Amino acid sequence: MAQSVKGMRDLFGAELRWFQHIEETARRVFGRHGYGEIRTPILEELDVFKRSVGESSDIVNKEMYQFTDKGGREVVMRPENTAGVVRAAIQHKLLQNNDPVLFYYIGQQFRYERMQTGRYRQFWQIGAESFGVATPESEAESLLMLHSFLTELGLKSLVFSINSVGTPESRPAFHAAFRAFFAQRADRFCEDCHRRIETNPLRVLDCKNERCQAALEGHPVITDHLDEASARHHARLKVLLTELGIPFEENPRLVRGLDYYTRTAFEVLSSDLGAQSALLGGGRYDLLVKHLGGPDVPAFGWAIGLDRLAMVLQQVRGEAPAPAPALLIPLGERAMLEALKLARTLWDAGVALQLETRGGALKKAMTSANRLGIQTVLILGDGELEGGTLTVKHMATGEQESWPVSEAASRLAARRD
Ligand code: AMP
Repeated sequence: MAQSVKGMRDLFGAELRWFQHIEETARRVFGRHGYGEIRTPILEELDVFKRSVGESSDIVNKEMYQFTDKGGREVVMRPENTAGVVRAAIQHKLLQNNDPVLFYYIGQQFRYERMQTGRYRQFWQIGAESFGVATPESEAESLLMLHSFLTELGLKSLVFSINSVGTPESRPAFHAAFRAFFAQRADRFCEDCHRRIETNPLRVLDCKNERCQAALEGHPVITDHLDEASARHHARLKVLLTELGIPFEENPRLVRGLDYYTRTAFEVLSSDLGAQSALLGGGRYDLLVKHLGGPDVPAFGWAIGLDRLAMVLQQVRGEAPAPAPALLIPLGERAMLEALKLARTLWDAGVALQLETRGGALKKAMTSANRLGIQTVLILGDGELEGGTLTVKHMATGEQESWPVSEAASRLAARRD
């Protein structure tokens, strides 16, 4: 029997209902902030990710679904969506007028990852990107939107963890202080960190190795080495978050490793996930658009994993809300046509209804109804046709009653399964 490809799964039933609920909430909340959806292709040219995600990253080095197409192009199944959105915005000249441009996306991403719980090779992300505004106010706007999104989904005790990584101009001052600190205790850091301190010192700060984290105790803090404008930006963001009542904490080890990331970096933690577990991350990337060949346009954005979010919601809220349809079972040939007509009236009135179209015995239809979890069964046989009624069976209690056909729509709409 054929199986789905390793790391790729089919979505249906209860899990998919959470996906749908999350997507609907995202569209509603982002739409009211003025963000428009963008859908970019799954395949992008290799260069897009080499230049954005970075040639030294694990994603580009080890995890990309990369191949040569029949025309000899080096293409990649996107491992994330920001690079594609920036590529599209440049290609279609959407960033030429200095207007703010606000986009969100919902889509599948692909990474050839080692299998572990909650990690897949095809997974979904929802993200929002705002282009053209460099102010801390634009960050507050985006974080407020994110806060509403997560709150409306029912997540509690959200904490925004923030930091500033300054600018490429101000970073050498921090690097010097940090390298001096590292040199004094170099033997306590892992091999990877020894490589990082040469090539990309900020990445030492978020090394996953516990010994390295312990060795970092008392490390110099980037926010003490910011240029004046970045320091003002960071201070202003903290004022805004305080004024808006968005709970935040400063995390001097929260970094983004690539040069085009500037100033604000953030993660969101939720008590629903247990201690120290981040739900998502994002930040400012003022230099990426130019780096990918576009105009000099600042940007801020974030991405959240939909698979993980659905799993958390299932854990804290149980099954996704799912109004089960009623089932209409016609008995006999004449009733079948009448049932189609009645079902049409009910569908047009907005009632969720499944129609049994196999014909045949009631017993078979009732067995299927049970297996499908149907709560309300409507039976239309010759007797009912004569009397203009429906026999209604409530599956949970086994109770049976008779409804006038004319009242079916309103009674079904009022029912709570
Ligand atoms: P990243 O792009 O690595 O910063 O990840 C952003 C979000 O995508 C995180 O919230 C993760 O939950 C999610 N994510 C990343 N990789 C995977 C994966 N392999 N499977 C499921 N979710 C993922």
